[in-house]
Amino acid sequence: MNIENVTISSNKEIAMNLWRMSMNAPKIAAAYMGPGQFINILPNNNWEHPIRRPMSIASVNGNNVEIIYKIFGDITDQLSRKNSGDTINILGPLGNVFTEWDNKDVEPILIGGGVGLAPILNVYESCRNPFMIIGAKTASEHFMKHDPKNNIYLTTDDGSLGIAGNVMKAMDEIVLHENSIIYACGPEPMLHVLQKHAANKNIRIQLSVESYMGCGVGLCQGCVIERQNGHVQEHSYHEKYSLVCLDGPVYKNSEVTFG
Ligand SMILES: Cc1cc2nc3c(=O)[nH]c(=O)nc-3n(C[C@H](O)[C@H](O)[C@H](O)COP(=O)(O)OP(=O)(O)OC[C@H]3O[C@@H](n4cnc5c(N)ncnc54)[C@H](O)[C@@H]3O)c2cc1C
Repeated sequence: MNIENVTISSNKEIAMNLWRMSMNAPKIAAAYMGPGQFINILPNNNWEHPIRRPMSIASVNGNNVEIIYKIFGDITDQLSRKNSGDTINILGPLGNVFTEWDNKDVEPILIGGGVGLAPILNVYESCRNPFMIIGAKTASEHFMKHDPKNNIYLTTDDGSLGIAGNVMKAMDEIVLHENSIIYACGPEPMLHVLQKHAANKNIRIQLSVESYMGCGVGLCQGCVIERQNGHVQEHSYHEKYSLVCLDGPVYKNSEVTFG
């Protein structure tokens, strides 16, 4: 793990309220282990917002690290006002990685909902012809083409682009096999439904969880998620709860529960 002052090389709006930022981050790029990992960003060195904000790594090319982020509140708004040449402080790379997507015997089904698309696109860029489903509320939040012939399915809640409905509607178009693995990142209700779906179909799933997070390194204990079959032992709650920053953000099958 590194802490690095990095220089922004580009920062552009790619869809409504959705931005892609590239930064020159040699230390973080050198330590990067693969899709799933994230960085924790401090856009300004002041006491107004002392807590960092986690963002998944969307790609790493040479020294260049990219994120894709949506403006939710103050920090992401501040990020969107940064120009190339500005610096920000980042901590990372943090967290674990998606696995097996590079195994030629595996059929990856990639699913991103909302801002969960960043780590999913990262896997997509590295995979051979996977299926990918990206869900959003409306057409203006998408920046890709709905292209079922090339196994790219976009969904919109309001039906303004691609398949009308949520990502589960697009799942109906995909035939699952024994060697399919679902890789998903997005809101917890989506992850919950997909987790149940995978269990019903008896296929494997890897879920990247975006819980609220403070430090990103296990100190603040802010990002707990319940383990499926956890129990509390005397003086320890770690048997029952997992820290997304240290144990995750990627969890397999029914390791954690959203219920
Ligand atoms: C491991 C990880 C990876 C992430 N990757 C990305 C990414 O690639 N792109 C991206 O846009 N965002 C990502 N996020 C979420 C991102 O960190 C938050 O959107 C960010 O903290 C918002 O900061 P803010 O100051 O702009 O808004 P805040 O003022 O912190 O929040 C604004 C509103 O957004 C909601 N909110 C904030 N964070 C979360 C959250 N984690 N879960 C649910 N609701 C939340 C809150 O309800 C709040 O009212 C990730 C989070 C985690 C834990």
